[in-house]
Amino acid sequence: MRAQKQSIFRFAPSPNGYLHLGHARSALLNQEIAAQTHGKLLLRMENLDELRCRTDYETAIMEDLAWLGVSWQLPVRRQSEHIDTYDAGLGQLRARGLLYPCFCSRQDVAKAVAGRANWPCDPDGSPLYPGTCRHLSLREQQARARDVVAPAYRLDIAQAIKLVPQRPEWHEYGPDGVLKTVAADPAQWGDVILARKDIPASYHLAVVLDDYLQGVTHVVRGQDLFAATSLHRLLQELFDYPAPDYFHHTLLYDVAGRKLAKSIGAKSLWQFRAEHYTKEDIIRMALA
Ligand code: GLU
Repeated sequence: MRAQKQSIFRFAPSPNGYLHLGHARSALLNQEIAAQTHGKLLLRMENLDELRCRTDYETAIMEDLAWLGVSWQLPVRRQSEHIDTYDAGLGQLRARGLLYPCFCSRQDVAKAVAGRANWPCDPDGSPLYPGTCRHLSLREQQARARDVVAPAYRLDIAQAIKLVPQRPEWHEYGPDGVLKTVAADPAQWGDVILARKDIPASYHLAVVLDDYLQGVTHVVRGQDLFAATSLHRLLQELFDYPAPDYFHHTLLYDVAGRKLAKSIGAKSLWQFRAEHYTKEDIIRMALA
């Protein structure tokens, strides 16, 4: 990878469970490439989901990483400590007329698109937002706000794309190390939620602000986040942030061909360690 004056990498797990081999792959690749470019590696805990994230998982993650031989520069950034920063970012987008409150539940969205043939889905598989709340008047918004605890905030993607003079692109490293230019396609996300009902933030918003505030120059993460980069590039353009270089590495799959994930009960490093696998065994499997 091309080094920059000071190359900065980050590994950004969500502490809602233990690390599995897929995380080990990402952390080890970050460490390896950071070393090649004389860069720094940072650790960020993406712990916005208060219900699922736990400090004992954070401790276990750091312990597993240290055991694997991955080291990072302090301080560790914890997203839950930066809610004000995300709120300020939302304020900037709101001031430009790019956000609107959305009172719909997931079921409301499903109902609104039911029966519409071939209704498109976003890259995560959720139906694109049909725009129900996009043009509510202030009076309607106030009336709705009385029945709902708090609205989510969505990005008006068409307006946002219009405000960016050129279609965003990014530099992506292939597995062969060759740098390619990728044209971003943020429209595929539709009016994405940037602030959830429970917190004034979302993964997409926080990741963009954090990468900028932490001075990240190289984002090394799994291919499952490739499509998200289209949206992240649009947000970076709106905030006038420089684009990092990206490398979306291949993923690890289980014997049934499913992507390793906590949600399918992928075996944790912690379990491997309890079964006396060595660090070398884990590195070999993670980088296979
Ligand atoms: N927190 C995300 C995850 O655990 C990674 C986000 C990123 O690297 O941008 O999948």
